[in-house]
Amino acid sequence: MLGNFSFCTPTKLYFGDESLNDLNRELPKYGKNVVLIYGGGSIKKNGIYDEVIQILSENGKNVAEISGVMPNPTVDKLYEGVEIARKHQADLLLAVGGGSVCDYAKAVSVSVNCEEDPWEKYYLRFEEPSCKTLPVGCVLTMVGTGSEMNAGAVITNPHTHQKIGHVFADEKIMPRFAILNPKYTLTLPHYQMVSGIYDIFNHICEQYFSGEDDNTSDYISEGLMRSVIHASRIANKDSQDYEARSNLMWAATWALNTLVSRGKSTDWMVHMIGQSVGAYTNATHGMTLAAVSLPYYRYIFPYGVQKFKKFAINVWDVNPEGKTDEQIAAEGLNAMEAWMKELGLVMNISDLGATEDMLEGIADGTIILPGGYKVLEHDEIVKILKESL
Ligand code: NAP
Ligand code: FE
Repeated sequence: MLGNFSFCTPTKLYFGDESLNDLNRELPKYGKNVVLIYGGGSIKKNGIYDEVIQILSENGKNVAEISGVMPNPTVDKLYEGVEIARKHQADLLLAVGGGSVCDYAKAVSVSVNCEEDPWEKYYLRFEEPSCKTLPVGCVLTMVGTGSEMNAGAVITNPHTHQKIGHVFADEKIMPRFAILNPKYTLTLPHYQMVSGIYDIFNHICEQYFSGEDDNTSDYISEGLMRSVIHASRIANKDSQDYEARSNLMWAATWALNTLVSRGKSTDWMVHMIGQSVGAYTNATHGMTLAAVSLPYYRYIFPYGVQKFKKFAINVWDVNPEGKTDEQIAAEGLNAMEAWMKELGLVMNISDLGATEDMLEGIADGTIILPGGYKVLEHDEIVKILKESL
């Protein structure tokens, strides 16, 4: 049965190859002091930085910058950004980049007026902000995380080998607006593009592989998965195909803006294990998911065989005739494996720098969440990690 729920996504989206102009509609809504947040310099190489600076100056904004936000942003970088935003008395945090930059801006937003250590409050105790937060806007340059329209913010503490995501309960932590220009994603290296594609796909899987009820959210998920598979095959052959890249961008937003989890349970264990792998290796997020997901799903599918059968038939067009449920389900996962290899995803955590002696630590650092077909024990996580090596 569809559970009770609320649904609210307050992020205003502007989509298309001229959508940066819409920044002019949003900027007047906020005060003069803007903190522009970006990563390691891709936006300077491809010209997006100059375009954004020009619009900010035409709108009379007083701009400070936080640059060098790294993939998998760290807690030390968070402390640094909080100081800059405080000193500048920021009225708006404008993130220009991928999920790391968007997540980071949200983490700064909830920390600027927080008197406690944000790492302890938000990432160890999972508390909600009790202080005033700052509005975040986003110009997206990398597709995958859905961070442009959700309230998630993942931060890594390299000192303690912890990579933790907090999905804030209050939707006002979601970006107030997001500019989605598929053209901006065309300069992404192939490795980042396919990693993002797998991140999208896995976000949908995490919300799909749970529950056995007849649920509209699952039908939406199946449609999104089919779109991602189709567009990814085109983009993999021709990364400059605007239609495919724009479909991927749109699918990514809907894959993780809370829509497809409405009224149902979810299973976030691939992200939990993948994030712990990331805490030890600093590997690219989507690749950590790709490397652990098949061993995980092959381990749990006997506990949720009906959904895996549906996945095989409705997403991968497996012909069910004359086969047992288990055979059909296994064929679906085989089709998924073939697609992952076709994209050139990293299929083993050893290729991401993980070694056997790290496995106990990675399993210890994995946050075990209920909701999936099987709640894992520590030893089962170690087993899955061994399969992923
Ligand atoms: P990312 O870490 O934001 O970016 C990856 C790399 O791509 C960076 O080196 C960046 O370079 C480069 N890049 C970005 N846009 C580019 C462009 N247009 N052209 C060329 N290079 C470009 O990647 P991401 O996968 O979007 O974000 C990963 C983070 O998000 C992880 O910490 C992950 O755990 C988190 N995450 C969050 C959620 C959520 O719900 N909020 C969900 C899943 C994952 P520059 O630094 O030079 O720009
Ligand atoms: Fe993700």
